[in-house]
Amino acid sequence: MYRREWRKASLPTCAGCSDAGCSASGQGRIIHRPGDSPLTTGIHVAHPLRMEVEVLELRTKHPFVIARGGQSDHRTVWVRLIDGDGLEGWGEAAPSKFYGETPDSVIAALKVYSALLPDDPFKLEEAERAWEAKLRGNAAARAALSSALHDLVGKRLGVPIYRLWGLDPCMAPRSTFTIGLDAPERIKAKVQEAEEFPILKVKLGTDRDLEILRAIRDATDKELRVDANCGWTVKRALRMLPILDEFGVTVLEQPLPPQDHDGLAAITAQADIPVIADESCLTTVDIPPLVGKVDGINIKLAKCGGLREALRMIAVARAHGLMVMVGCMIESSLGITAAAQVTPLVDIVDLDGAALLSDDPFVGARIDGGQVTLPSEPGLGVRRR
Ligand code: MG
Repeated sequence: MYRREWRKASLPTCAGCSDAGCSASGQGRIIHRPGDSPLTTGIHVAHPLRMEVEVLELRTKHPFVIARGGQSDHRTVWVRLIDGDGLEGWGEAAPSKFYGETPDSVIAALKVYSALLPDDPFKLEEAERAWEAKLRGNAAARAALSSALHDLVGKRLGVPIYRLWGLDPCMAPRSTFTIGLDAPERIKAKVQEAEEFPILKVKLGTDRDLEILRAIRDATDKELRVDANCGWTVKRALRMLPILDEFGVTVLEQPLPPQDHDGLAAITAQADIPVIADESCLTTVDIPPLVGKVDGINIKLAKCGGLREALRMIAVARAHGLMVMVGCMIESSLGITAAAQVTPLVDIVDLDGAALLSDDPFVGARIDGGQVTLPSEPGLGVRRR
């Protein structure tokens, strides 16, 4: 017998659905009876899930510019999974040009994944594995589906997702607020606009880095963290380290191109502040090769493809003694609220994607004054504005 067949044969069989390996098998299985409240019972959903998608046109208050360029129009994809009882789970896909994604590619991928919607939303692990096996990449689309399934499960059980995971939302660190690349005078104005946020993240990786740091430091004495978005060479980064110290920078994110692990190791060895890998670390498998070369990793749902994978990344990073950061793309409060579910487990939070918008279409997790506040409603707890 081949390994895969052995594994399948060894799994228990569920009396309710006859699926080998169904998580509902054995003692304690909840049976959905006619008349039961759908919010409190029903591991098994009687009807297949249906998917609806809609493109969201988001605008940032200012053009959002980083070392790779910038824009003010950002289109994301709102995914709704609707079950037979009419309950809806929501997720948002924020496509990343850097990873070759567009709203059209997200929608094309969602069409492929929609053929593999689980018969039961509680099969979270199985669903995420099946989507990745069917079509690799397309992490933003898978993240939206993962978020929507978790939202639906939370709503069926009547609890927020973080509560389902046993997390205390009060343990979430404060979020940074990003100051994108701009002319010094405009940067100063942005710093003033960001008055309520106690920690600023500064985008660098240009030939004007010193000028930018000076403009920000002239305007504020707040804690500063720097993200070079792959924009430096090793030589340049080593030259920047004492300058970062001089300006009181406390964290350095992704100074070098993604594959330059040896360069990252050289910088980490010299730096007095934590060096965090972002573009170098997409999923769990990227973590072990970075051990000893950086101090921590930045997890984004749009990179890793879902909440299950985000939890795995946190566990693996912790097992290797790494710091953990959770970040985001430019996305609405829907996507931000999904990412915010893991904030009680991390050291650094950078979830300002919705706070940078002029027209957030959703209400969910907030970062008022930098403090992450998670909704107390079931699932994600997100609603339309
Ligand atoms: Mg980054």
